[in-house]
Amino acid sequence: MTTNPIDPRQLDRLADVAVRIGLNLQPGQDLVLTAPVAALPLVRRVAAAAYRAGAGVVTPILGDEEVTLARYRHATDASFDRAPGWLYQGMAQAFAEGAARMAIVGDDPMMLAEQDPDKAARAGKANALAYQPALEKIANFEINWSIVSYPTPAWARRVFPDLPEDAAVARLAEAIFSASRVTGDDPVGAWQAHNAGLQRRTRWLNDQRFSALHFTGPGTDLTVGLADDHAWHGGASEARNGVVCNPNIPTEEVFTTPHAQRVEGYVRASKPLSHQGSLIDGIEVRFEGGRITEARATKGEAVLQRLLDTDEGARRLGEVALVPHSSPISQSGLLFYNTLYDENAASHIALGQCYSKCFTNGETLSKEQIGARGGNTSMIHVDWMIGGAETDIDGLTADGTVVPVFRRGEWV
Ligand code: ZN
Ligand code: ZN
Repeated sequence: MTTNPIDPRQLDRLADVAVRIGLNLQPGQDLVLTAPVAALPLVRRVAAAAYRAGAGVVTPILGDEEVTLARYRHATDASFDRAPGWLYQGMAQAFAEGAARMAIVGDDPMMLAEQDPDKAARAGKANALAYQPALEKIANFEINWSIVSYPTPAWARRVFPDLPEDAAVARLAEAIFSASRVTGDDPVGAWQAHNAGLQRRTRWLNDQRFSALHFTGPGTDLTVGLADDHAWHGGASEARNGVVCNPNIPTEEVFTTPHAQRVEGYVRASKPLSHQGSLIDGIEVRFEGGRITEARATKGEAVLQRLLDTDEGARRLGEVALVPHSSPISQSGLLFYNTLYDENAASHIALGQCYSKCFTNGETLSKEQIGARGGNTSMIHVDWMIGGAETDIDGLTADGTVVPVFRRGEWV
């Protein structure tokens, strides 16, 4: 006898929350959905929930780990400089015509760990370049979009290496359901309350008009200047198409745009970073004039250096986000090897592209105006965790006033 390690009722609720809270899919709106084949049970439920919400056409685009690995095992060297640009142009066109975007993630986060890092970096760069037209519409928040995750066996084995597969999947499923707030009878109501709490933090930070944040902690003394006219966001927010959505399920962060030229000091990552199938651990970097001038890692340093060399903006910050150490994901004590989860366990910074919505009236600003206010541009956006139980954060105002924001990892 076998039992399903994933509770089908919770999965129904997750699909419902993804469509109603994550996307807030509108009647008649098309949906472009990407997912690993292993996540089909959730893909099917999301499609059903989307059609119940009045979706036009739901188009799933499925990937598969074995197909990805076949490339590394058998493809010619030239393959690693190519990407399906036609597909991303089609996605960009779908978004331009009003489609919403959902990503279901769940691949083995270390899928490429054993593969040639040079090939992985080249494939990643070719893909990022080809994806740019579609990513821009997401980064500029032109459409409602959302990411949710599914407990695939490959991911579950990575998070719980000592458990039999079914038990690992069951544990990861529980962690996902509880972090995604779908374990109660009224998940939609739970999300409305959670969003209201994040909005309170956001309003307070916006009222403070800090010019910089000062992070101190083990291995860290970092001043992150904030972009001129920066705006904090968190939880639900309104896309340029007028739809209020929750881009990340789960989400615990409030975040804004740092100033690309005004970051000074040194910082040590508080968790390993899982990046495109490789693990980068023990990251320590120094910033001068907003730019990373020294970078080290105890593990995966070559991957880190390649990442920083992607383009000029890859050495500068595009996001700073605050997450209390008491967040449910942090309290689970798990390392998910997945940014969607790990970034919601700790305060973090992101290398690369900024979010234009994180400016006052950001939707009206041109690329040049965003750049002039300190917003960074890059092909990458990679979050890494810098906060922990011992992190203190002060807000610095333009006139030099110091306002405590976090003490020992918690909101003051
Ligand atoms: Zn973030
Ligand atoms: Zn980010």
